[in-house]
Amino acid sequence: MDKTILITGAAGFLGSHLCDKFISEGYKVIGMDNLLTGSLTNIEHLFPLENFKFYHHDVTKFVHVPGKLDYILHFASPASPIDYLKMPIQTLKVGSLGTHNLLGLAKEKNARFLIASTSEIYGDPLVHPQSEEYWGNVNPIGPRGVYDEAKRFMEAITMAYHTYHGLDTRIVRIFNTYGPRMRLDDGRALPAFIGQALRGEDITVFGDGTQTRSFCYVDDQIEGIFRLLMSDYNYPVNIGNPGEITIREFAAEIIALTGTSSKIIYKPLPVDDPKQREPDITKAKKILGWEPKVNRAEGLKITLEYFKKVI
Ligand code: UDP
Repeated sequence: MDKTILITGAAGFLGSHLCDKFISEGYKVIGMDNLLTGSLTNIEHLFPLENFKFYHHDVTKFVHVPGKLDYILHFASPASPIDYLKMPIQTLKVGSLGTHNLLGLAKEKNARFLIASTSEIYGDPLVHPQSEEYWGNVNPIGPRGVYDEAKRFMEAITMAYHTYHGLDTRIVRIFNTYGPRMRLDDGRALPAFIGQALRGEDITVFGDGTQTRSFCYVDDQIEGIFRLLMSDYNYPVNIGNPGEITIREFAAEIIALTGTSSKIIYKPLPVDDPKQREPDITKAKKILGWEPKVNRAEGLKITLEYFKKVI
């Protein structure tokens, strides 16, 4: 096959799995990353391959890629609450300036363009589960605003390039996803709990732990993104696993899985932490014929093995 794809955020959690997926499907893959939160260890196995190239570049600066490009996937961004609190300006810039640069590149190359949007665009949702028709409940000036609004801008400018320039675009709204290559120190619930359990430390549940999330295994997420890119659907599609669980129950599952003697302790709930989150995946099922296949017990087992090696 002679198709070339540019993947930004290539050294990150989802970006690196996307590189693997497209390499295995026979594509030429150009990975781009400024390594702010990504790590080369996630993609070092790809460096010897003829079909893989890596550009160490910050997409908020003008992006140049020689030759033809068939697809662009924009997955560069700090993506955990701890990361975007530490890097608020970079988070805003990669979602806004970075997306604008890459849209310009897509237009120049006549490439199909897919952006990684997020369930965060629904904010602290007043509708449950969240369907793509819901507009969200976001605090623009709260600590999460830098991520949520950057992603909302990203959707808006991508739709504008689609309607005004006729660019072929896709928008995936990614719900909480986990699996190997998540960073142990990104502050997210899953790596935090597994790290604490393996070190025999207390498990830190924020708030009373009754807030809910729905965790999707990475292989399912990647398959959903792949199918969306290959579809002809230009509007946002939720990709996530509807298996909703409270964070307290989730912590208990990790304690049981690891067999740790760690106890749960409670810490204050971060500002604007969404109280409930669960994707409505009716659209993904209908349009992409997609639904998650890996249940939490299976996915967590694989992820635990990965973290054991890392620790
Ligand atoms: N959380 C927690 N303890 C931690 C880290 C996170 O209780 O050490 C909570 C967090 O407040 C949120 C949920 O777990 O309610 C999921 O957090 P995560 O950072 O994984 O993702 P997001 O909030 O972006 O869904």
